[in-house]
Amino acid sequence: MPELPEVETFRRRIDAGALNRTVAEIRPGNDITHVELPDAAARARFEGHQFTQTRRHGKYIFVGSASGPWLNLHMGMSGSVRVYDTEDGDPDYARLVVIFEGDRRMAFRDPRKFGWVRVIDDPDAEIARLELGPDALEIDASQFADRIEGRGAVKSALIDQAKVAGIGNLWADETLYQTGIHPDTRAGDLSGKQRGDLHRTFGRILKAVCDVDAHYAELPDPWLIHRRKTGHECGRCGGTIESRKVGGRTSFYCPDHQERAT
Ligand SMILES: [Zn+2]
Repeated sequence: MPELPEVETFRRRIDAGALNRTVAEIRPGNDITHVELPDAAARARFEGHQFTQTRRHGKYIFVGSASGPWLNLHMGMSGSVRVYDTEDGDPDYARLVVIFEGDRRMAFRDPRKFGWVRVIDDPDAEIARLELGPDALEIDASQFADRIEGRGAVKSALIDQAKVAGIGNLWADETLYQTGIHPDTRAGDLSGKQRGDLHRTFGRILKAVCDVDAHYAELPDPWLIHRRKTGHECGRCGGTIESRKVGGRTSFYCPDHQERAT
């Protein structure tokens, strides 16, 4: 599933290849039944316009201009964005294709069809409507400390997009592993130091994954991402990785160095 680093990689692709070009047409792609896409009238609003800026908030991408309108893209389980030239041909599973004047094109691909594209006028209003918390790469330590509270498990709080937007299952587990906090720990029981550690650690992790364009094989060897399997050896303490369901999601962790709060 595309998480924040993948989505940031797609945003950078758009920045690098699809801005400041005039839109000739936005056309539906192949096999689009059950895919939420803008209708013909909404697509026509972009004709003759240029995209001049992108924005990512959590796992959402916005592509537009100061005066709007904007495309809002959500990747679902398997979505991605491809920027290419006409001669390369449309990619497989292209559900929406932006055709720029000249040869450049941009496609929203989605093999499994859980993603969507909407046309909106104001990203800030849309972020509020979607009830997203501050973006994970922008939230500051005190905002984070105030938002991670309550009786629920810290793992559930980290992946709650209304608290912090952009931390998914993989990077929540990685953050808890690297800070030595058990996923079941009640959010409200975390110390001030632990809240600071979590904030610093998920920021560092997400930035590192963005820096390698979400190529996980390039991440440091001791990280949990390379050993998300029950029975694997922990990369930090030599313990044994276990899994358990927390808030309905499978969490991988090391019971030897991730201590449960008492
Ligand atoms: Zn360990």
